[in-house]
Amino acid sequence: MLMQTLSKASAQLQLPPNTDAVGADTPLFANQVEKTYGNGTHALSRVKLAIQRGEFVSLLGPSGCGKSTLLKMFAGLEQPSAGHVRWWGKDAPGGHPRAASVGRNLAMVFQEATLMPWARVQDNVRLPLDLAGVPKPHSQAKVQAALEQVGLGAFGNVYPRELSGGMQMRASIARALATEPNLLLMDEPFGALDEFTRNKLDSDLRQLWAERDLTVVFVTHSIFEAVYLSSRVVVMGARPGRVIADVAIDGPQVRDEAYRTSPAFIAQCAYLSQLLAQANGEPA
Ligand code: ADP
Ligand code: MG
Repeated sequence: MLMQTLSKASAQLQLPPNTDAVGADTPLFANQVEKTYGNGTHALSRVKLAIQRGEFVSLLGPSGCGKSTLLKMFAGLEQPSAGHVRWWGKDAPGGHPRAASVGRNLAMVFQEATLMPWARVQDNVRLPLDLAGVPKPHSQAKVQAALEQVGLGAFGNVYPRELSGGMQMRASIARALATEPNLLLMDEPFGALDEFTRNKLDSDLRQLWAERDLTVVFVTHSIFEAVYLSSRVVVMGARPGRVIADVAIDGPQVRDEAYRTSPAFIAQCAYLSQLLAQANGEPA
């Protein structure tokens, strides 16, 4: 069973998901993207990657391989040194609040919850809507809906310090969801949480994604997390940062605790672990 799944995974590697069909319905397309920082660090080399609508794609790789750099480019927060990024076929990110009106926008969730400590949870979640000039009577319903989607419906009135680490991260996700994004970019959002809390947030995130028309790009260095969450895992190697494999994860649509211990899950994890080890110069 293990070998069968491993060879199946290799076959998938030779036939990566279709990245050629790139157009107005393609949330993200990076074409031959290079990044060299001012201090000479060659952070990314010739990254070519398309993220299609409805995918849940994890960028998986060791620390320093350029995952955050690539995600910041996907958010329009960092410019490529060469090559280009396209959002829905255009060369400007849909991240600007005005884009929300045409139904194509993106939101980013960082590793830290970055909540304003002096503001109640609902005011934190409302921030991007305030910045976009959405009138309060209109934004209030969106804030409440976003809080409910992350299980914090009853916590709008409390301050961030009254929440656990996992709940603060839920609030941070609600702040991103309040803008009703089509594309959600997440940079190791659960990296600082204990394993139990992380598993729970992973399950809830996966369910949220399954229920909505949402495309997710999720950065992690956890193989287990990538396989649990994703429809596709993009494996990155370091020095310089580059894409070394693009692997479809053909797990069940509904993923639960049983999936975490299934032979298919374990085989996918073993396969990705082997790829990562090879890419980073360790004997397999
Ligand atoms: P990851 O998220 O995979 O850990 P990063 O994208 O943060 O990787 O970093 C990739 C490489 O670029 C690392 O060597 C890092 O030290 C370097 N780097 C990241 N940001 C900057 C910056 N602003 N200036 C210079 N070097 C940077
Ligand atoms: Mg990073």
